[in-house]
Amino acid sequence: MSVPHSPLTMLEPHTPTDALGRPHVITRGEGVSVWDEQGRRYLDALAGLWCVTLGYNEPRLIQAATDQMAKLPFYGSFGHRTNDVALALADDLARIAPLPMGRTFFANSGSEANDSALKFSWYYHQSLGRRRRTKILSHHRGYHGSTTAAGSATGLAHIHHGFGIPLPHFLRLHCPDPLSPPAHGLTDAEFVDWLIGELENLIDDEGADTIAAFIAEPILGAGGLIIPPANYYDRVQEVLARHDILFIADEVITGFGRTGSMFATTEFDLRPDMITLAKGMSSAYLPISAVMVSARVWNAMTEGAERFHTFGHGFTYSGHPVAAAVARETIAILQERDIPGHVRATAPVLANALDKLRGAESVRDVRAYGLMGAVEFDPTPHGMAAGELGATLRDAAAAQGLLVRALGDTVVFAPPLISSDSEIESMVERFTAAHEDVVCGRIHHAAAWS
Ligand code: PLP
Repeated sequence: MSVPHSPLTMLEPHTPTDALGRPHVITRGEGVSVWDEQGRRYLDALAGLWCVTLGYNEPRLIQAATDQMAKLPFYGSFGHRTNDVALALADDLARIAPLPMGRTFFANSGSEANDSALKFSWYYHQSLGRRRRTKILSHHRGYHGSTTAAGSATGLAHIHHGFGIPLPHFLRLHCPDPLSPPAHGLTDAEFVDWLIGELENLIDDEGADTIAAFIAEPILGAGGLIIPPANYYDRVQEVLARHDILFIADEVITGFGRTGSMFATTEFDLRPDMITLAKGMSSAYLPISAVMVSARVWNAMTEGAERFHTFGHGFTYSGHPVAAAVARETIAILQERDIPGHVRATAPVLANALDKLRGAESVRDVRAYGLMGAVEFDPTPHGMAAGELGATLRDAAAAQGLLVRALGDTVVFAPPLISSDSEIESMVERFTAAHEDVVCGRIHHAAAWS
């Protein structure tokens, strides 16, 4: 039998493939549902990959793309030339930015945005003559993408294995997870003291004059939806500012309404030097991402550009006009429909529904923030290896017509931001049924679609 040539897809531990290695193929979407090639319908509790914020058939986004495609299908932002839509989008972003920012750089994915931000941190310090400032700090279990530099900043081993990354000069800090071993027996405030002590020690050991930047997610997504304890980032920012280490807020997941504010930077009172954005920026209808650079960093980079006689960074598709038109329309919709307000109103529905799983078999923790939720499981009573229970639950959920993501033994929800109360309740009901199927032994780790 001939095997169809399928695209290479990211395979995480316990990712299902059927006997031919053929991925699960999705062919259609509408509202908060998608259909696979067998015609099976799923509620998409993950919004694609935390990104289809406005659901799968928003006519205004389709129209914006169609109109722009007919008017100017391409002109990039290279060599001091750009297109009118990228220009207008930069202006839109400056208008809604959580802080006054200096400039916006456009790219095509979260990874590219983070790679760019890391390079900008190096360019910033080199512009100021600090050639030794090359090291990058990030969190264990932080996710910043899978390109070479962003992947090096990522603190998840499966992104490194077999690729020879992380590159040297990428240093890791403990994940600010209140359930992790160093937090045992400590109050939140004591755990924050411990984390800050670790940061201070690392800076002392390495030398502040060797460290360029700290990149971090306000809420760690792919690491298992980790919500850092109160005041953590306040304290981190104080230390970084004291040592002139740049702070890059990776808002690839949290940006554009997911937390109930347009940006988590506002939600957590952050003062980043750069903010990276992607995913919800265009509701994922087309690939586009951005790095917003503060005026202070931008001013230094401008001086650097004079010194180096060049600013050698950019991509063919930076500020692609069709993607930019979709992003502009996305921002307009987010504002006109007050999607962050809708998230604030529906967040308790998700939190309360998930909370009913607290105390259920193997449930270790339940947490939620905005339209993000997680149920963390303990695989030990099932005699399963780490990650296996999460994967089994994910597959059991698919059998119930629900797409969720398993991050180790934590199952995460990040539904489209337009989800109604009843859609969110149905998602959690389906997951509860899937949990019962696994607990009662009706499902033993089988990909539902194979
Ligand atoms: N940063 C965060 C916080 C992410 O969650 C992701 C992807 O999930 C990325 C960066 C990488 O984005 P992309 O997959 O578009 O390269």
